[in-house]
Order: sequence, then C-alpha cells, then structure tokens
Amino acid sequence: MKTLIKGFTLSFAFICAPLWAEPSAILFKNVNVFDGTHEQLKRNYSVLIEDELITQVSAKNIKVNDSVTVIDGKGKTLMPGLIESHGHLSIIDKLSNLKHHYTWVDIGNRMVPMAESWLMDGFTTVRDMGGPSMGMMRSINSGVILGPRIYPSGALLSQTSGHADIRERSDRHVTLANVHDEHMERLGYVRVADGVDAVLTATRENLRNGATQIKIMAGGGNGSEFDPIDSMQYLPEEIEAAVKAARDWDTYVAAHLFYPAQMHRFIDAGGMSLEHAPAIDKAVMKKIVKKGVFLSMQMNGLSTELRDSPFNPPYAREGIIAIQKDSKNFATLVKKYKPKMVFATDALGDVDTQTKQRRFELFERARVFGNFEALKSATSVGGELMLLTGKRNPYKKGKLGVIEKGAYADLLLVDGNPLKDISVLGGYPKWIEAPAPKPVDTIQVIMKGGVIYKNTL
Ligand SMILES: [Zn+2]
Repeated sequence: MKTLIKGFTLSFAFICAPLWAEPSAILFKNVNVFDGTHEQLKRNYSVLIEDELITQVSAKNIKVNDSVTVIDGKGKTLMPGLIESHGHLSIIDKLSNLKHHYTWVDIGNRMVPMAESWLMDGFTTVRDMGGPSMGMMRSINSGVILGPRIYPSGALLSQTSGHADIRERSDRHVTLANVHDEHMERLGYVRVADGVDAVLTATRENLRNGATQIKIMAGGGNGSEFDPIDSMQYLPEEIEAAVKAARDWDTYVAAHLFYPAQMHRFIDAGGMSLEHAPAIDKAVMKKIVKKGVFLSMQMNGLSTELRDSPFNPPYAREGIIAIQKDSKNFATLVKKYKPKMVFATDALGDVDTQTKQRRFELFERARVFGNFEALKSATSVGGELMLLTGKRNPYKKGKLGVIEKGAYADLLLVDGNPLKDISVLGGYPKWIEAPAPKPVDTIQVIMKGGVIYKNTL
C-alpha cells in the first residue's frame, strides 16, 4: 500500500480527486481501446487491472466480484499512458540562470510541481535525458511525491569544449586548473570527461548514482556558446568506452547530435539512441533501421516558433536557422524509411513553459506524421525504447506503452478519439504564444501502476 498525502494539492492547479488508496482490482468496461500498436480502435472492450498490471483485455464482458471497482467508460477511449522519451525534469530554468541563481534546494523544490505536471498531462513515463533526476525517480517510486515513471540519464557527459561544457570564458577548467568544484557538475547536470579513462569513470559514476542509460554529447549545439553545431565530439574510442561501461551494466548510450558524420561515428561505436538528429540523411536512416537504433527527434525543433523562443540565447538564432535549412528532408526520410521514432519534446524551463512545449509537440507530430504515428511514438515505440535498459530497468514487471495482458496498468481514459483529434490529449497549434496552460479536461482518468491519480468522471 502506497502512503500518499490525502488531498495533496497540485500546484499545477488541476482539480484532482484525493489520491485513491491502491485498489486491488479495477475493471474498465464499455471502452474503445487504442492499444498503442494498432490504428483501429477495439470497440466496446473490457480491461481488467489487478494490482499494477493489466490482467485481461476482452471483447466480452469480464465477470468480476463485488470487491472490484467498476468504471463504465461509456464508449470513451482507453489508451496507454503517454511516454516522453527526451525530457529534462531538472532543467527548470535557463542553464545560465541555474548556474548563477539556484541552490540544490531551489531546484529540488521546483522539480516537484514539474513531475506532477507531466503526470497530470497524461505522461506516465519520462526518459530524462540529462540532469539530476535520480533522486526524483526514487522519491516518486517510493510515493513521497507525485510524478511519472522516470528513466534518468544523470549528468550529461561531454568532452572539454563539448556541448555540456557550459563554463563561461572566465571559468577555470575543473581538471586542468585542479579546481574540483564547478557548480553545475556539483549539482549533477554535467560532467566534463576527456579520454577513455575519464569517460569510463564518469559513465560508471552515473550508473552508480542510478542512471538507467547514459547520455553523451557527440556533437555541438545552438544552446551553448563555444561549440560549433557541426563539431565532432568524442573520439570513437571515447564513445566505445561509454558503450562498453554501459553494456557491462546491461544498458545503452544515447547521444545528442545533429549531423550525419556525428551519427555514423556514434552508431559505429555502438550507440543506440539518436537524440535530435534532424539533419539525418539516407545513409544514416538505412543504418539505424538495420541496427534497430532509435530516433528521438523533436518536431518543435524544426518549427518557426523555435526561432522566436525567449529561451534562445542571442547567439543561437543564426544556428537554428541554419540547422532548420539542413533538416528540410527530415519528415520525408522518416516517412520513407520508418525508423523507430519516439515522442520527444526536449522541453526546458518552468512548468508552464514545458507544458506548452509538450502540447505543441503533440500537435506538430500529428500534423506532420498523422495522429496514429504520433500516438504510436508516444506509447508502444517509447515502451520498446525503455526496454533497452535491460537489467537496469526500474520497472521490470511488465511492458509500458501498450494495452495488453501483462503490461503495466498505465492508462488514460479520454473523452474523444485521439486518433482523430489530438486536442483531446492537449495537442495545441501554438507553443511560445500559447495561453497559460489549463488542465486537459478531456483526459478524465489517469492511472499509473493501477493507481488512479486523476478521476473527473
Ligand atoms: Zn535535451
């Protein structure tokens, strides 16, 4: 039995019933099921939940005794909880602000409503792609705070001069100057490690702290001032070192990158998840399809709204325009080669900012690839990616992102059909200019691991 605070007030202003004590069994009857993998809804189905798992999915009525809570779905859509495959729950403000104005207490306090807001938007799983989110995973798993399942990466690993070497010009180098005290390293956001030995140490340090996968910076970016976006980052032997250390823990390495040369080097060294990768070309597409490498790209990154984001540092705009130009074939190549593409927002900032970004990402995916592809990426394909964590998977009892016997009971009951109308999940055509987000009223029930966190029926 999870002990949770009764009447827990949600800072995201959701009207939520007090958290229910963990029920022994719940039956959803008369629901149309989107199972995460098939485009057709299964009409008038019944789904039985026992403890944390789905134990029956049936076209017939499931007979249950009086101890089972029965929810009549009245023809609404039952679907898997959404999976975000590239979040940053600890990056609750601009990195430059984090660096200068935040102590660990400031950050931890702001991460609590952040985790709630993801769960209360229907995201029952978040793969956190950089930052100190291991402690939050442990707090959520033990019922201390509300939030999604977390797959934390821990500190972003970067070479000196790489995308996570976020020092100012005036900051000394931790190793060269023998400083041993850099605020962002101390907080667990980044780790600068050069050479095979240091990369091994940094990878193993993250694993020891509870990372379920490793994230490295294998290319430059627009959000950092001193590393050109096209720069190759980490030598093949350094990437291989991280991959080998991760494999020894039965897990994998993901990499931030933008250009094909960076992707070839990373995949050839054993990397399994491309983060961003907008300028991917035909040759890389063929390679990732063959090797089963996942593609974790944000469609918001190709939007015109990004150029106007207040989050962009002044030096970023030109770079964003350039990378968007170099990425004009992205959607066409994805439609042709059908790689394993997951839903990924790369949302940064405070609660409202991240909420707007994920709702825009939902809309944009559905617009470009269709509702089914958008939903599949945010359910079954995301669930498949989480399985790459092997023995490090914190949630081993069942699959995520599907409605089938034996899967985790992470479910949404939605008033409407998201395969036809993405707005019933919050999808919204604007991002930066969107109004302050309100609860998505059409998501009426949110369940994670058999526990109901929202119920407005
Ligand atoms: Zn990111």
